[in-house]
Amino acid sequence: MTGSNAQQKSPPAEVLVFIDLSSGELDDAGKGILSEASRLAKTLDSAWSAVAFAGAESDALQELAPYGTPGVTLIEAGPGAADSIEAQGQLLALAADELGAKVVLLPHNDLGGSLAPLLASKLQAALFTEAIGYDGEDDGLKIMRQVLGAQVAESKLWDQSVSLVLTMNPRVLSAVVLPSMQRSELKTNTWSPSAAVASGPSRVVERIPPDPQTVDVTEAEVMVSVGLGCNEQGFEQVKELTRLLNASLGVTRPVYDLGYAEFERMVGQTGKTVAPRFYLALGISGSMHHLGGIKDSKKVVSVNIDSKVPIFPNSDEGFVADLRDVLPLLIERVKSATGGTA
Ligand SMILES: Cc1cc2nc3c(=O)[nH]c(=O)nc-3n(C[C@H](O)[C@H](O)[C@H](O)COP(=O)(O)OP(=O)(O)OC[C@H]3O[C@@H](n4cnc5c(N)ncnc54)[C@H](O)[C@@H]3O)c2cc1C
Repeated sequence: MTGSNAQQKSPPAEVLVFIDLSSGELDDAGKGILSEASRLAKTLDSAWSAVAFAGAESDALQELAPYGTPGVTLIEAGPGAADSIEAQGQLLALAADELGAKVVLLPHNDLGGSLAPLLASKLQAALFTEAIGYDGEDDGLKIMRQVLGAQVAESKLWDQSVSLVLTMNPRVLSAVVLPSMQRSELKTNTWSPSAAVASGPSRVVERIPPDPQTVDVTEAEVMVSVGLGCNEQGFEQVKELTRLLNASLGVTRPVYDLGYAEFERMVGQTGKTVAPRFYLALGISGSMHHLGGIKDSKKVVSVNIDSKVPIFPNSDEGFVADLRDVLPLLIERVKSATGGTA
């Protein structure tokens, strides 16, 4: 983990990817970061493996093989580390150092975003956060980060003279959940530190799941988005539907301009770029300014009264229908499916 000799070609970087298995399963961020690790290792012509904290992982380990994960090291964190980010950062840094990692890759979610600076500081590594992509460059990487919405990409170069801690934007990760062509024969090792690590001044006291009604739309899993095809009454119905489905509300720019929703809810070129698992577009024509913000959605379903609007060819499923008929029916169906208590 020390500097390389500038006269010699650097040895291949070893990529170590951190996955959070504390919930007992491999979530979308985990699948995305494994897919990304295999791609990054290929870019750097390196070996790669995963690292996780030991605990509730037994079932989740089965899920690593379809992503071609060659091996996973389970860190025996010991009592006290589970709720201490500082302790976890130290343990991960010690493990990364011992495993000879040149690049530590993490998803930029709450945990990954908190661990990354601690790791970089312990490893004296370069730190690039929330990357949206990278290209191989000679003996290193050109890393892209998004600034000012979707319009500007900032490039950073990493040349392998120090190790690298890299976090990937969750939006990019949810778009690249790609099972590998080859299932791996996963090798599992355990690792524990030679001495106890201090737990540091802060402690996780509670983990509160995000509220879809208030979560930033860039992190939303299920979205109901509304365009000018909805009148004021329709908009109230959409809000009810969103609540019943435990989904996040999005709007087009004209709907925002009408004052129906705050700026943070606007989706598109001027608004936010979203990547939900499911995007329901109601009364939205599908202008290029709006489509640019939803292209990373996994499944788009749209309803529009006009069969010729561009949202349809950009949807997985489209329904030509009048929202004035559809919305009350949809609300009734969801209520009866959930006992009206959703
Ligand atoms: C620089 C720039 C940036 C922009 N940025 C954004 C952005 O970030 N996000 C954004 O959304 N827009 C943005 N826009 C605006 C964009 O160009 C479109 O005007 C906008 O997306 C259209 O919104 P809409 O689909 O709600 O409205 P419309 O295009 O008016 O579409 C309304 C749709 O509702 C349908 N409809 C009507 N009645 C019913 C009914 N009863 N039932 C079912 N369907 C019905 C119609 O058939 C129509 O397709 C931007 C524009 C510019 C110039």
